[in-house]
Amino acid sequence: MEQVSADDLLAWIREFARLVAENRDALTELDAAIGDGDHGANMHRGTTAVLAAVDGAAPAAPGALVKKVGTTLVSTVGGASGPLYGTFFLRLGTALGDAATASPADVAAALRAGVEGVVARGRAEAGDKTMVDALLPAVTACEEALAAGRTWAEALAAAAEAAAAGRDATTPMVARKGRASYLGERSAGHPDPGATSAALLLAAAAGTLAGGSR
Ligand code: ADP
Ligand code: MG
Repeated sequence: MEQVSADDLLAWIREFARLVAENRDALTELDAAIGDGDHGANMHRGTTAVLAAVDGAAPAAPGALVKKVGTTLVSTVGGASGPLYGTFFLRLGTALGDAATASPADVAAALRAGVEGVVARGRAEAGDKTMVDALLPAVTACEEALAAGRTWAEALAAAAEAAAAGRDATTPMVARKGRASYLGERSAGHPDPGATSAALLLAAAAGTLAGGSR
């Protein structure tokens, strides 16, 4: 049975960092429209620190690796998104435990634990126009695809598609959490920055977590 290794997770993190760097200005523009214009800079600072933290010193076990990502994001990103992304990766790490590799079902369960951590910490529900609107449907799509007997690569592709659709669905929403909620009705008409970065996280997963050859 196919297994997800720490190397696969490292490839995911590196690809996420690459996508954040590529989209830094776009994320900042989105946040300038309905927040304070720092989401791209915040995420880029965090992923740059993550790359430095794992460079030549990446933990060999999946759980320890993503925990290191989480602690690095918490200590470097700041803003609302730092503790939330940090919580996501820390919960992922707790769920993956000490095992040397993880099955697709283990990873799906860990992703579910991660998004539950974000919800517990930020108290945002689906429809509040936050990163939760991309993360929740992605995890559900991943679980459903695996339950339907689809391959791991297909499940990850479904998760990325659901995250992108969830991101797009935030555009007409009125924000009920975070800085964008201060704008009330005027927050409608713009995609949520955090949902946009979360869609990048799932896009990165789809390109890497099923391994290079599978
Ligand atoms: P800040 O809002 O402190 O400037 P960022 O700009 O880095 O932090 O991140 C903003 C993003 O954080 C929002 O677009 C939203 O997706 C997410 N966010 C804010 N508050 C919450 C919350 N309570 N729960 C989930 N996500 C949230
Ligand atoms: Mg901001």
